[in-house]
Amino acid sequence: MTEKAPLKLLCVTAHPDDECFGFGGALMLAAERGIETSVLCFTDGQAATNRGAAADSAELGRMRRAEFAASCSILGVAHHEVLDYQDGQLEFANFSQAAALLVQRIRAYRPQVVLTFGGDGAGNTHADHCMVSFFTTAAFHWAAAAKRFPALGPTHTAQRLFYATSSFFFPGRPSPLPAPWTVTLDVNRVQQRKFEAFRAHTSQLPLMERFQSYFEKRAGTEHYVLVATPLPQPAAQMTDLFEGL
Ligand SMILES: [Zn+2]
Repeated sequence: MTEKAPLKLLCVTAHPDDECFGFGGALMLAAERGIETSVLCFTDGQAATNRGAAADSAELGRMRRAEFAASCSILGVAHHEVLDYQDGQLEFANFSQAAALLVQRIRAYRPQVVLTFGGDGAGNTHADHCMVSFFTTAAFHWAAAAKRFPALGPTHTAQRLFYATSSFFFPGRPSPLPAPWTVTLDVNRVQQRKFEAFRAHTSQLPLMERFQSYFEKRAGTEHYVLVATPLPQPAAQMTDLFEGL
């Protein structure tokens, strides 16, 4: 009898703070059940509007790397990594290189569940979020394909790719074109810790204050859509990203 591989979740984001805004509840619920979680963030967020006391972009980047580490620790994330891509410039990044980097990470880490943004770019339609969605989608499929990047290690077929999606729009911002959700996660139980993780992003607190009332109203539920699996199946509503795994 072969032992079942331990359950793992990989979450791919664009900026420090995406991990709590977009995925914090899912990450905490997984960690609570002993599922190993990993967050890979493409940029250090040095193009942010809110800049704290940073003297320059490099300093803001360093601050945000530290804030990201603190937030991941609150969210119970086992592994976290910030890549060196330029904040705000992902649409100009080399697609094949970015996808290859993720193929390598997926083949090495071997997660069953992969989470990222949808192509809508999430609540603020940030092009970096769109690009992370496209890179991760390619990598999810290509990590499983022997013909793609054969030098990057043995293939890995992850079981589920989910995009974060939303049931509401932020006021005063261009509306995204969100995917209909297939997952409703009740994250009320961990909502306070989600705020705590956000507050670890000290440089971004003005953003938190601006949308505080929305967060309080909405942060108890996270929506996702299942977009890829190894087996043909009809879409079904789920309340757990790992249901049946
Ligand atoms: Zn972001």
